[in-house]
Amino acid sequence: MDIRINSYIPITTVEGPGKRFSIWVQGCSLHCKGCANSAMWNKDGGTIYKVEELIDLITSYKDKIEGITFLGGEPLEQIEAVTEISKTVQTFGLSVLVFTGYEYSALKNRQDFQELIRYVDILIDGRYEEDKQDFSRPWIGSSNQNYYFFTDRYDESIISKYKNKIEVRIDKNNKISLNGMGNFKEVLKTMR
Ligand code: SF4
Repeated sequence: MDIRINSYIPITTVEGPGKRFSIWVQGCSLHCKGCANSAMWNKDGGTIYKVEELIDLITSYKDKIEGITFLGGEPLEQIEAVTEISKTVQTFGLSVLVFTGYEYSALKNRQDFQELIRYVDILIDGRYEEDKQDFSRPWIGSSNQNYYFFTDRYDESIISKYKNKIEVRIDKNNKISLNGMGNFKEVLKTMR
């Protein structure tokens, strides 16, 4: 089975609780106004990986991370591959956080979604809504979005424990990349 992704970061501390291997899935048909990741909308873009290849990559970091995070793009538009990876990494003791722009109420009766959440610790649902922008809760950018906890590993206390943060990376070619959640424009201004 294949998965098309935009990118991944092997260890980040700003995309969920603890250190996480984060995967930006390529392709999103929701097209929210103000989306910061519109480069990830094209379902034919990004890079194709074999699911096993990505699992091997995650495995090589498994002793350094608490879990994995799927974001994007829209992870649920490649739900089979996301389920397969989630199922496998749970056997290593890693936690799984999945972001989706779809609402839980619209997903909960889907059989493929029920299968996925057997292997998910936290789901964060809802589109980014520009007129509801709110950075007060961790990892999310608008007040309509919600956290769902499916295992005992985490609970609502993490919402007050963690703060939104942005990580800045500069590669060997001086290319700057940002990830996390917050006011990216303000951060870029301070770097000029
Ligand atoms: S669901 Fe996420 S990636 Fe898709 S358009 Fe909305 S904010 Fe962007």
